[in-house]
Amino acid sequence: MGAPRVLLLGAPGAGKGTQSRRLVEEFGVEHVTTGDALRANKDMETEYGTPREFMEAGDLVPDPVVNEIVEAALSEADGFVLDGYPRNESQVEYLDGITDLDAVLYLAVAESELIARLTGRRVCEDCGANYHVEFNPPEEPGVCDECGGDLYQRDDDTEAVARDRIETYRESTEPVIEYFREKGTLVEIDGEQTPDEVWTDVHEAVAERADP
Ligand code: AMP
Repeated sequence: MGAPRVLLLGAPGAGKGTQSRRLVEEFGVEHVTTGDALRANKDMETEYGTPREFMEAGDLVPDPVVNEIVEAALSEADGFVLDGYPRNESQVEYLDGITDLDAVLYLAVAESELIARLTGRRVCEDCGANYHVEFNPPEEPGVCDECGGDLYQRDDDTEAVARDRIETYRESTEPVIEYFREKGTLVEIDGEQTPDEVWTDVHEAVAERADP
């Protein structure tokens, strides 16, 4: 089977990171995530300033910076799960010009649920596994169950920045979801189920659409 090319859409906190990790394990695809790439290069000087300035305000990093990251990552990947991109209509157009997608999935979660998920989120600094202090705590507080690494809270998971990110999502990224819905390729998945239930739906949608 050719490795699938999957686009995973959803608001911040919808569960894209968690489901992406499972897709990587199951289908052997690359995880291409602009958020992680930008966090690793927060202080990189660009003609627009550093990514940090935009990220700390909950704003989008300028398109040329993220487009370049995505183009480089996709050119090296056979199959992939793309997570956190495209986030506005001009990024959709750019993506359209550089690759074809097998599956476009949207994890639907009500806005009222997102803030609680984001502000309680903890991430492993070594392997990237995601936890939640209340909904999905690690066995030992602050320690990753999977690799023993330290868990940290992202700078932009504070309530104030989380609210700005959701506002940015509503203004810039919801039109992206509408674009794929109108095109008829969007598979909407109930992202408020348990992570295992979401995974059942994600797996089925990708397996059906992957090249045999
Ligand atoms: P994430 O980890 O996907 O929540 O992304 C964290 C932050 O990185 C966002 O709030 C943006 O500031 C920036 N970012 C990530 N992906 C993009 C993108 N496709 N376009 C612009 N900015 C992005």
